Amino acid sequence: MISSITDFIAGLPKAELHVHHVGSASPRIVAELAARHPTAGVPADVEKLAEYFTFSDFAHFIQVYLSVVDLIRDADDVRTLTYEVARDMTAQNIRYAELTITPYSSVNRGIPAEAFLEAIEDARLAAESELGIVLRWCFDIPGEAGLPSAEETARIATTLTPEGLISFGLGGPEIGVPRGQFAPYFDQARAIGLHSVPHAGETTGPETIWDSIRLLGAERIGHGTSATRDPELLRYLAEHQIALEVSPTSNLATRAVGSLAEHPLPDLVKAGVLVTINSDDPPMFSTDLNREYGIAADLLGLDEAGIGALAKNAVTASFAPDTVKADVLHEIDTYLADCAH
Ligand SMILES: [Zn+2]
Repeated sequence: MISSITDFIAGLPKAELHVHHVGSASPRIVAELAARHPTAGVPADVEKLAEYFTFSDFAHFIQVYLSVVDLIRDADDVRTLTYEVARDMTAQNIRYAELTITPYSSVNRGIPAEAFLEAIEDARLAAESELGIVLRWCFDIPGEAGLPSAEETARIATTLTPEGLISFGLGGPEIGVPRGQFAPYFDQARAIGLHSVPHAGETTGPETIWDSIRLLGAERIGHGTSATRDPELLRYLAEHQIALEVSPTSNLATRAVGSLAEHPLPDLVKAGVLVTINSDDPPMFSTDLNREYGIAADLLGLDEAGIGALAKNAVTASFAPDTVKADVLHEIDTYLADCAH
C-alpha cells in the first residue's frame, strides 16, 4: 500500500517526451562540469549552485542556461551530461525518454558534429545497458538562431543520422519566429522518416499550432497550451490524436500562464485532447517529472488510476519502438495492480 500520491507518483514507471538535454543538467551535473572548466565562472559547489539556479526573471534564466551551455566544451562533457541526465531520470522511475538535443549549439561552439553524435550515442547505449532506461533523440532547431541553424541541424540529422534519432523539432522563443519559415528543413527531416515535433502555442496563440500542423507536419506539439482559445483546433487535435506535451511549471516560468490555477490542462483534457506531462528544463525550473505529475493530478483531480492513465498517454504518444511501448505499458499496469492491493 502506497502512503501518499507523492510516493505513488515517484514509484510509477513513466515516459517523458519533452525534456531538453542541457536544460536537464542538475546542480550535481553542473558542478561536475564546472569543476572541469574553472575559468567559466560557474560555481562547482552544489549548494552555491542552488543559489545560482534561483532566477530573478526569464532573462536571468536564459543567462544561466547559456552559462551551462558554455560548460559543454568537448565530447567528453557531452557524454557526461547525457549519461548523468539519464541517471537522474532513472532515479524518478522514468523508463523511456525522448531527449530534445540542440546539436547546433555545441557544433557552433567548436565540437565536431561527428564527435558530438558519438558521445550521445555512447551515453545512450551505456544508459540502456547499465541503468535500464531507453533514450531516443529529438534534434531541434534553435529558432532564435534562424535559418542557418535550421540548415545545419537538418544537415546533421539527415546526413549523420545517429541510431537514436527519431524526431525533428523547433525550440527557442516563439514570438517573432514564424514556424512556416522552417518548412523546407522539416520536409528534409520527414523525408528520412523523422517525426515532426515543433514547439508551438505556448507564448503565442493557436495560429502557431495550426502553422505547425499545416506547414511542418507536426505529429505532436511542444506545449500547445493556447489551443484552448480555438475550439476548431481542439477538435482537430482530438480527432487526429495530435498529442500535446504539457509542462505546467515551465508554462508558469515563461509566464505563458499567470498561475497554476489558470492552467488550461483541465480544458484540454475535457476537449478530448491527448495530453502528456513533461518537465521541459527541470532543474532550471526547480522541478522534475514527478513534481509535474503531482501538479497535473491536483489540476485534474486525479486518483491513482487517473495518474496511471496519464502516464500511459506519454507511452502511447511516444515514438518508442513497439516492444518498449509494450514493456512500459505492462510495467504501469503491474504497478497499478500492485498498488490497488
Ligand atoms: Zn521545450
